Amino acid sequence: MAASAPIDMHSTPEGGDDDAALDALLNGPESGDAPGALALAGGGVISSSEASGLHSKVLVLNRGYAAMRIVSAKRAFCLLARNIAEVIHVDLNSDGSGSGQYINYDFESWVEISQLQRQFEAERHDWIKTVRMDIAVPKIIRLLGYDRLPEQGVKLNRRNLFARDRNKCQYCGRIFPTNDLSIDHVNPRALGGGDTWENLVCACIRCNARKGGRTPEQASMKLITKPVRPKRNPLIALRLGSDKYQSWKAFLDHAYWSVELG
Ligand SMILES: [Zn+2]
Repeated sequence: MAASAPIDMHSTPEGGDDDAALDALLNGPESGDAPGALALAGGGVISSSEASGLHSKVLVLNRGYAAMRIVSAKRAFCLLARNIAEVIHVDLNSDGSGSGQYINYDFESWVEISQLQRQFEAERHDWIKTVRMDIAVPKIIRLLGYDRLPEQGVKLNRRNLFARDRNKCQYCGRIFPTNDLSIDHVNPRALGGGDTWENLVCACIRCNARKGGRTPEQASMKLITKPVRPKRNPLIALRLGSDKYQSWKAFLDHAYWSVELG
């Protein structure tokens, strides 16, 4: 079991990476995830308990429209309320029809347009409630003063590795909750196997124990897929499978990790 012990990869909040400047921007003083109310200038107060839409996910673009991060709707509203981000609204129906063109809205205009959307296309959006009105949760926001490019490549960590393998044990093929999964060195460390995308896979506790400090051949076990370095962020890739986040594709098609979209 020693050779297949979990490697030292701490899980980080969704979208976390080493980009400290972006972290600082996204984690401004008012934008913590602590429970409580979020005050909007002129827009009333949003309380987490009554606002299920706050748990929706929002894609964050830099000023040059490159995809940077996924954040919670709550964080997105904090950035909008501070006027450091604007809404990018893609004209796209959930079935993929629509022009696919996008429109930029500052927060004030978005709040206004939300009133029309509430009347005519309520089902196309998630909503947050304020005392005075409902506001549609944007799918995409753009940072107005942030020019840096996304980090190249996908960071090798526990969270991204599990997302790449979709929580599926790469030996028995069953899907497990994250807590019941471990990371297996295909070629064990004792035999020179390294911490690389090509040598690490998701394995259930049982398969990992059975394999022990052996290669798959020595243990007569077979990998169900050949482990490779993902071309784009597997967490974003997972969400692209959902109709809800169709509009993200317009921006991810041009992003560095996007080669083809499944
Ligand atoms: Zn297994």
